[in-house]
Amino acid sequence: MTEAIIRAQQVEKFYAQPSENRIQVIAPTDLSIAPGEIVALLGPSGSGKSTLLRMLSGLSKPSGGKVFWHEKPIDTVQIHVSIVFQSFALFPWLTVLENVEAPLKAKGIEAEERRARSLKILDTVGLDGFAAAYPKELSGGMRQRVGFARALVVEPEVLFMDEPFSALDVLTAENLRSELLELWQKKTIPTQAIFIVTHNIEEAVLLADRIIVLGRNPGHVRTDFKVGLPQPRDRKSAAFTKLVDYIYTVLTRPDVTPDVPRLHTDGRHVRDQRQMRYEMLPHARPGGIAGLLEIIIDFSGHTDVYRLADELAFEIDDLLPIVDAAQLLGFLMVEEGDVSITPAGREYAESEILKQKELFRAAATEHVLLLRQINRALNNKTDHTVPEEFFLDMLDEQFSEEETQRQLETAINWGRYAELFDFDAARRRFILPETEETAASIQESSES
Ligand code: ADP
Ligand code: MG
Repeated sequence: MTEAIIRAQQVEKFYAQPSENRIQVIAPTDLSIAPGEIVALLGPSGSGKSTLLRMLSGLSKPSGGKVFWHEKPIDTVQIHVSIVFQSFALFPWLTVLENVEAPLKAKGIEAEERRARSLKILDTVGLDGFAAAYPKELSGGMRQRVGFARALVVEPEVLFMDEPFSALDVLTAENLRSELLELWQKKTIPTQAIFIVTHNIEEAVLLADRIIVLGRNPGHVRTDFKVGLPQPRDRKSAAFTKLVDYIYTVLTRPDVTPDVPRLHTDGRHVRDQRQMRYEMLPHARPGGIAGLLEIIIDFSGHTDVYRLADELAFEIDDLLPIVDAAQLLGFLMVEEGDVSITPAGREYAESEILKQKELFRAAATEHVLLLRQINRALNNKTDHTVPEEFFLDMLDEQFSEEETQRQLETAINWGRYAELFDFDAARRRFILPETEETAASIQESSES
């Protein structure tokens, strides 16, 4: 194996608290960055992506563990890294050229060379002609180009980027992303490795040779795998969508770590050997699903999930379970991060409450095996009640204990709303709503 450029060994980060407890942000973690690779780091917000990036790039000191640069402790050697930030972080009082020259000036490089190198890199990133402009005169996309130029002008061995495209509109992000990839692939820039933090799953699968997903509380590596798809990548290929789905699953389902999909490099995917019997119910409320659909109708029935999260100031990982649930019920179609409402979804969102319950009931029994089973069991039993444990036993074959409990809670929530069944929390039994009436009427008739 090639020697790593950067190697973190049991690095962790915690913050002291006024009380004795400390906040652990990153659990002890091993991680390395090898030459020739683009590594993408994904994870829910607050999982510690930026913290990890800062430790790997030497910007902040780990609370424990060590970081090595070519096998030497990072604080004992000169390291060659640059960081591109989401917020651009330009000096507003300097021109584009002066902004790009700034890191060279800090390194003590003399004026003439500084200028020549800066002009050259401005040309490379498509900013020729903008040298004398001030950041405020530029669009977001152009400002981030300055951010890239400033990072690249020092010819970093490793280029770090923390959500560099997140503040840009979709098209601008797309352009910058492919231009960067081209610079990298054609070796126009001498950069040896790229480490990019992103919350965009597709972006990771488009760019990266290797993807790491962090879980939170404290931050830890959930999965770390090589992408192995040839460039340029086709978003529509089965292998691409398979990987997107896999990462999406890891991100939305903290209790389950599915196997990394095995892919044929030609874009076909190997069929899963082990089919899950139960689909995982996303933990979303029926009211939330209806609310989401109404909002999507306001976006003319079609939008990008990330844009939606941004517009609503929602955390993407809070929004995803609702999107997931709507998709499971056949109310939404999700493709490459774009959501479109289905005719069934539109009808559901635009109906009045009783009709909504009826439509939800139909969709839930059609698409959710567990709800179908509960309903069938209740209808087939003479007393129309079934103990909760019966279903817990079936579910815990597949899910962790905690997730089994959550699955059942969500099923109860949905089933009650759809008036498919009721749940007697005292007796821990499912019951058919009519049963109570029937039971009552039987009792009445026997009393009379
Ligand atoms: P991400 O980039 O994945 O969104 P961050 O690395 O920015 O996450 O933050 C990870 C966690 O560390 C967050 O929960 C944040 O609140 C916490 N954190 C960051 N800085 C401090 C600090 N100085 N003191 C206490 N907690 C902090
Ligand atoms: Mg961050």
